[in-house]
Amino acid sequence: MSRPRYLSTRGRAPAVDFAAALLDGLAPDGGLHLPETWPGLDDHMSAAMAAGDYVGLTRAVLSAFVGDALPSEAVDRAARRLGEVFDHAEVTPLVPLADDLWILELFHGPTAAFKDVAMQVMAVLMDAALAATGERLLLFTATSGDTGAAAVHAFAHAPSIDLVVLHPLDRVSPVQRRQMTTTDAPNVTNLAVEGDFDACQALVKVLLADPALAKGRRASSVNSINWGRLAGQIPYYLAACGKLSGRPRFIVPTGNFGDAFAGWAARAMGAELDLLAAVNANDALARALSTGVYARAPAIETASVSMDVQAPSNFERLVFEASGRDAGLTRTLFTAFARDGRMVIPPEVLAALKAQISAVSIDDDTAMAAARRAQAEFGRLICPHTAVALGAAWDAPVHEGPTVVLSTAHPAKFPAFARTALGREPGSPPSFGLTGEAPERFAVVAADLVAVRAHLP
Ligand SMILES: *Cc1c(COP(=O)(O)O)cnc(C)c1O
Repeated sequence: MSRPRYLSTRGRAPAVDFAAALLDGLAPDGGLHLPETWPGLDDHMSAAMAAGDYVGLTRAVLSAFVGDALPSEAVDRAARRLGEVFDHAEVTPLVPLADDLWILELFHGPTAAFKDVAMQVMAVLMDAALAATGERLLLFTATSGDTGAAAVHAFAHAPSIDLVVLHPLDRVSPVQRRQMTTTDAPNVTNLAVEGDFDACQALVKVLLADPALAKGRRASSVNSINWGRLAGQIPYYLAACGKLSGRPRFIVPTGNFGDAFAGWAARAMGAELDLLAAVNANDALARALSTGVYARAPAIETASVSMDVQAPSNFERLVFEASGRDAGLTRTLFTAFARDGRMVIPPEVLAALKAQISAVSIDDDTAMAAARRAQAEFGRLICPHTAVALGAAWDAPVHEGPTVVLSTAHPAKFPAFARTALGREPGSPPSFGLTGEAPERFAVVAADLVAVRAHLP
C-alpha cells in the first residue's frame, strides 16, 4: 500500500504523511496541508456510492488519503464509529424538499451539527497516530459554537489528549455553550474569550506557534485548517452524488470555507458537481470573488452565528489550487493578508477561482424569509445556517439538474431563531449532547496571549 504525502500551501515545509498532517494541524511554515496529488474515485468508492453504504464509502475515502500511514484497522474503526454514534442509518440522509431541490441532513451526530461527522472520525485516527508516536497532544480549537461542541464530545476522556476550546464570550447560543461546558471530562478546558471568533482563531494560531506552551506535549488544532477535518467531510458529497442523476449543484452554508472546500476536493477526485458558497453578512469571500480584493472587516453578528467568520482560513487552499499550486504566490498573498488585512488577487487567479466556485451573501432577512417559506410550503423547520443556503437556492438563477442544500445543524440548536422566524418551538433531536442540568465549567478570559496562557492545562 502506498503512503500519500501532504505538502504545504506555502511551499516551505517538507511533505509529510497523513498521520503527521493530522497531528500538526497547521504546516510549520504557516501554510495548510494538501495532498501532493488528488486520489481518483476507485472501485471501492464507486461500489459504496452505488450501494448507499456510507460507512464503506468513508472507509474507502480515508484509505485513499491515509495509505499505510496508520493501521488499516484504525481507518476501519473510524468509519464504523459513524455508524455507531449517528442516529440515522444512512448517517447523512438526502431528503427531497421540492422539485429537484434536496436537503442533505448532516446533523444526526451527537451534537446535532455537521462538525460531528469529521470530528468523530478524527478522534479515532488521532488516537491511533498518538499510539504510534507515544506522544501526548495539546489540542486547541477556536469555535463559533459547533466545532467546540463536536470536539468536546469526540475527545472527552481521550487518554492522550488535553483539549482546550476557545469560544467568543456571549456569541454562541446557550445550547451550543452548554454542549461544550457541561462535560465532566477532566481533559477538557473551556475558555470564553472577550472578542469575536476571528480573535479566537488568531489566538490559536499564536498558541500553536509557541512550543514552550505545550510543556513537552505536541500541540495541534482541530479547526478546519487541519486536513483530517476536510478528509472526513468529502464522503457526504460523494454519497449524495451517488444518489442523484445529473450534475448536482451543492449550496454550502459557509464560514471558514472548510465544508465547501471538502466539496471542491470531492470534485478534484472526479465527482461531477458544482459549488455555491452561501455566506451571511460576513461576506469577505463573496466580495473577493466579485472584486478581486480579499479584505478583512470586523465580524458582524448574524442569526447564523457559526458562519460569523471574516477571514475564512480555507480560502488559502482554494487560492493555492486556483493559482496552479503556486506556493510562492500563495505565501506572498497570505503573508500580505496577515499583515495588512487585505490582498489583491491577480486577475488570472481570480478568473480561475470564479470558474471553480461561486459565492453569494444572504442577509438575515432573506434567510429568515427562506426559513418561513420552508415551513409554510413544505412543513420543514430549518436552522439559521441552512436558511442562508436555502435562501441562496431560491435567490439564484434557475439551475439545470438537482440542487442540494447542505443542512449543517438541527434547528433545535438555535431555538431563538425558530421562535422569531417561525413562532414555533423546534423540539429536540433524539441525541443532543446535553448532560441534563450538569453545571457549566468555563473561564472568561481577555483576548490576549497572557490571559489565555494562564489557563492552559
Ligand atoms: C461551522 C458551521 C458552518 C460553516 O462551516 P465552514 O466549514 O466553517 O464553512 C455552517 N453551519 C454550521 C451549523 C456550522 O456549525
